Amino acid sequence: MRLLLVEDDSMIGEAVLDVLRAAHYAVDWVRDGELAESALADSQYDLVLLDLGLPRRDGLAVLRSLRQRGVRTPVLLATARDAVADRVAGLDAGADDYVVKPYDTDELLARIRALLRRAEGQAQPVYSHRGVTLNPATREASQDGRPVTLSAREWAVLEPLIARPGVVFSRAQLEEKLFSWKDEVSSNAVEVYIHGVRKKLGADLVQTVRGLGYLVPR
Ligand code: CA
Repeated sequence: MRLLLVEDDSMIGEAVLDVLRAAHYAVDWVRDGELAESALADSQYDLVLLDLGLPRRDGLAVLRSLRQRGVRTPVLLATARDAVADRVAGLDAGADDYVVKPYDTDELLARIRALLRRAEGQAQPVYSHRGVTLNPATREASQDGRPVTLSAREWAVLEPLIARPGVVFSRAQLEEKLFSWKDEVSSNAVEVYIHGVRKKLGADLVQTVRGLGYLVPR
C-alpha cells in the first residue's frame, strides 16, 4: 500500500515516516501544500495523511481541490487536540477520518488500516479468499489454517489482489504499492514477488492476464 504523508514539521514527519515504514507501507513525504498537490496529481496513493496547517497552500485547500477533481483516495486528517473547528471543516470538505496530534502510533495505524479496508469495500478486518487469509493488523498469513510467512514485498503485491478478487492490477499499479520515490525499482520486481507468492501459496492463486497484469480469481 502506498501512502502520501503531508507534514511540514520535520520532527513529527520523521517520526511518522518511521512508524509507517516499519508497518511496511511505501511512503512519500512532502512538506507543503503545493508539493502535496503535485504528488497527488502525479501518483496514485491508497491513502493521504494530511496535516492542515501547511506552508504555501493549506491542507483544507489541498483536500477541496482533490475532491473537486473527483479523487476518492481516503484522506486521514492530522489535527491538534483542541482544533474541533478544523476537524469539522475537514470532514465536511471530504476527509474520511482524523487523528489527533501527538499521535498514538497504534491508533494511527489502526485508523489507516480501517480506511484502507473501507476503500476496498471491505468491512472485515481480515482478507480471506480461496483458503488464503491475510490479517493486515497482525501481518499474519495462512493457507487452509496453516501459517505462511510472506516477505513484506510479497505481502505488498498480494494484499491488493486478494482484497479485490476478480480485479486486474497492472504491473505499474502493483509497483506503486511496493515502492516510494527513494527506492530503486528493478524492472522485474513485481514478477519476482509474484513468483515468491506462487511458490508459497500455489501457482493458481495469482493469475497472469496477458498484456494486462494480474488477478486473484473470484
Ligand atoms: Ca503543520
